Amino acid sequence: MTNVDTEKYIEFVKGVTSEPSLNYGAMGSRLAELEVTGTNTSQLLTAALGLTAESGEFTEVVKKIIFQGKPYNEDNVFHMKRELGDICWYIAQACMALDTTFDEVIEMNVDKLQARYPGGSFDVHNSREQRRRRRLMLTAFNYITAFWSVVVMNCIQPANWEYCYRVDQWLVPELHEGWKLYTKEVVPYQTERDFLKGL
Ligand SMILES: [Mg+2]
Repeated sequence: MTNVDTEKYIEFVKGVTSEPSLNYGAMGSRLAELEVTGTNTSQLLTAALGLTAESGEFTEVVKKIIFQGKPYNEDNVFHMKRELGDICWYIAQACMALDTTFDEVIEMNVDKLQARYPGGSFDVHNSREQRRRRRLMLTAFNYITAFWSVVVMNCIQPANWEYCYRVDQWLVPELHEGWKLYTKEVVPYQTERDFLKGL
């Protein structure tokens, strides 16, 4: 095996490195040149360096879990989520630098995947809408089943007629409450949710 002459290798690397990488003045000129063409160099650089660094922090946790005996537990999942948040922060920087939005970036990604997998075409908006409709149908089905078994089955008994006929006292308030839940005027367990968020 031939030994590599590392000094020669470094000379070679230097020879093929651009002026703005080697020289502060050249870098300044390049930044100025880019700035006048409308490039947001400061935010682009912030985003590029930050995305790499934060991805590294996310990867570090995964590496330690898989190869260094760190447990996959609540703390480490929390840590990874926090690093994902940091990545999002730098994605937002990149979005500002490129004058775009998260929405456009995701839509572009969906378009790219659709082109790559034409057979598996999908639409994020539709699938979200389908999930919402399925949830609504399931809720409606649960309500109808409960209404049938509790109200209808009891109210067909003559012994209960005297309690059932005053629908203004039990059915109307329930429907009113249900409507408030449907329109999100009232959110179930809101106080508990607020409390947990504040922890
Ligand atoms: Mg971080």
